[in-house]
Amino acid sequence: MIAKVEPLTPARALRGPFDYLLAGPMERVDVGSMLVVPFGRRRMLGVVVGVAEESELPAERLTEPIAALEADVPASLVRLGLWVAREYVSTPARGLALVLPPGTGVGSARPLIPKRALRAAVTPAGETAVAGSERLGPRQRAALELLGGGPLSAATLARRAGCDHSTLRSLERRGLLRLDYAAAPPRRPSVEAVGARATRVELTGAQRAAVDTIEARLDDPVGKPLLLHGVTGSGKTEVYLRAVAAVLERGRSAIVLVPEIALTPQTAGRFVERFGESVAIMHSRLSARERYDEWWRMRRREARVCVGPRSAVFAPFADLGLIVVDEEHDGSYKQEGDPRYDARTVAERRAVEEGVLLVAGSATPRPESALRYERLGLPERVDGRGLPPVELCAIAGAAGPLHERTRQALSEVRRRGEKAIVLLNRRGWSNFLSCRDCGRVWECPNCDVTLVMHRAAAEVACHHCGHRQAVPGSCPDCGSVSVARHGAGTEQLERELERLVAPLPVFRLDSDVAVAGGIESVLRRFEEAPAAVLVGTQMVAKGHDFPDVTLGVVLDADATLRFPDFRAEERTFALVAQLAGRSGRGPRGGRVIVQALDPAARALGYAARHDSHGFLEGELARRKLLAYPPYGHLIRVVCSSAESGPETAAADALRRRIERASVPVMGPAPLFRRQGRHRAQLVVRAHERAAAIAAVREAVEAVADERRHGQVSFAVDVDPG
Ligand code: ADP
Ligand code: ZN
Ligand code: ZN
Repeated sequence: MIAKVEPLTPARALRGPFDYLLAGPMERVDVGSMLVVPFGRRRMLGVVVGVAEESELPAERLTEPIAALEADVPASLVRLGLWVAREYVSTPARGLALVLPPGTGVGSARPLIPKRALRAAVTPAGETAVAGSERLGPRQRAALELLGGGPLSAATLARRAGCDHSTLRSLERRGLLRLDYAAAPPRRPSVEAVGARATRVELTGAQRAAVDTIEARLDDPVGKPLLLHGVTGSGKTEVYLRAVAAVLERGRSAIVLVPEIALTPQTAGRFVERFGESVAIMHSRLSARERYDEWWRMRRREARVCVGPRSAVFAPFADLGLIVVDEEHDGSYKQEGDPRYDARTVAERRAVEEGVLLVAGSATPRPESALRYERLGLPERVDGRGLPPVELCAIAGAAGPLHERTRQALSEVRRRGEKAIVLLNRRGWSNFLSCRDCGRVWECPNCDVTLVMHRAAAEVACHHCGHRQAVPGSCPDCGSVSVARHGAGTEQLERELERLVAPLPVFRLDSDVAVAGGIESVLRRFEEAPAAVLVGTQMVAKGHDFPDVTLGVVLDADATLRFPDFRAEERTFALVAQLAGRSGRGPRGGRVIVQALDPAARALGYAARHDSHGFLEGELARRKLLAYPPYGHLIRVVCSSAESGPETAAADALRRRIERASVPVMGPAPLFRRQGRHRAQLVVRAHERAAAIAAVREAVEAVADERRHGQVSFAVDVDPG
């Protein structure tokens, strides 16, 4: 037998797979097995992507693998990893690395493999076989008899029975003994179930109808994915819980994708509460060892439900029955590094390939899903309470961050001892600093952007590369000591709110406090306080369920509209509607105030009326006219180099090649310098997705191989977020 092995190497130039000869105990190797193989003079870790009877290579050129690892992945996941590599114009190694046990990165010669013994135990069928007249070889019989005294490590058993590993494996295949890993019990990551409620609720009519449809489709998963389009507070999580229970009843496994566990511990907590040890949590702050243990719990079917962020779409279940994508509008489903995959698209692919149901849910679904999925509506909040009224108010840039109406509303919250959430999507103290005398603006030395002042840290920092320096006391150009601070971020707003609502506590939530447990602790303290204000970036608009919030405020709500991006409207609508959805979830009701430079903006109007249907309809019409997704496909290619010039030359070369394939392409357009690299961008906008991806892949591979573009890096982004 021949194994076709894809080596896990970062080198783009190595194009596998490569053939290896399987003999003796290696014959058990199959698609998904992980092998250590000789490669030239080195040894490399590789994944078996195919097996064949014969090789095209002459026999004398074939070598055998050195070892097989105990870990393997389902063949369906090998296909998925290779698909991701092709679809997102990456390498097979990088695509495969996504589906392997955590820690098996590309280029890692020694993956994290636990030191545990493979353990053998006799099965009931094995006991019957030994007692009865089943045909067994003398060594097989000896092995099974030895196990009559209890489980043994496989190595010990083989030694005592005088057999080898393949004898044990063949007994395992016949169902006469079981081989698994007797490890110390895996370490369980803790989920802080902030606000998780244990009560089992009676479903509302709309929830019941949604669950019924999902159950019917579990048994017959043909047709489109389902879109659970439910307003904020309509009880979508309860629908997912029932759907997962139905999957488990059918003896299958489920994946639940969530934006980020730290930000929405409530959701993960509800799954743990309902399904206990059957839940594996893929938390972004798990240690490598904890990730590895969770992976094994799934692989061994001890865990049947995987709750986690985008990478959970690769959970190693061989018997998947359902994929849920919670808050499907969330931008975190897009991976930033190579391959730049979109977990929602990967989920669609996996669902189709494995014949399982996909359920995506949101109060503000993407136009893509609204058009292409079958809709299930939850039109009302569970308690029958309406959505909170939203007031839009205009604020001139210079008038200070808080409108008079906002001040009054916050004062009321203070007076009545209630809770408010305030969103400003800008962290730090001031946006930028300038010299009042010569006009100098403080910029990052590595990126063409201004530095943001962080007062607590007494520094100015670049939000693109992490560069930081002390807050300047004077201007290095003219010596003036008059430095102006412009714009306010969450840090400054926190201070202002403290003055306004004292003695109520003010908690801040943004990526500056996200270090080590900061998010959970802020959310818990806000939840536990009888009255308080939570201020922060878009993190405060995620799916939190705090029933006692009576006021939601969005500041500078149209800031997102001022970026030239076809998703600007969609993002603005979702941000405002989601924040509005945090308010008025309890008996006291609630209200929302939205401050903007231009309150007449279309996205804000729809958000204020909670009209996601109207918004989607208008947005789809606009996209259709411009051939934007979902009516066309975008691919962005960014070329970058340390010196100025080569990036544009490479982009020009790419452009010519892509055009030769009759695929329309725009650019190159310069992008701002980032992390010391000059950048040029091309954008492909095409109707034919596969053809466009193929043209870009061929062009990038050809241009990257040319020596004169040697110092240029290429980043391909299919479906940029
Ligand atoms: P969504 O995700 O749609 O915003 P959640 O799933 O967070 O809504 O549910 C909002 C709240 O309603 C939660 O506290 C949840 O426990 C509760 N809930 C869900 N379904 C019901 C129901 N049928 N009856 C009463 N309360 C419910
Ligand atoms: Zn100056
Ligand atoms: Zn920078």
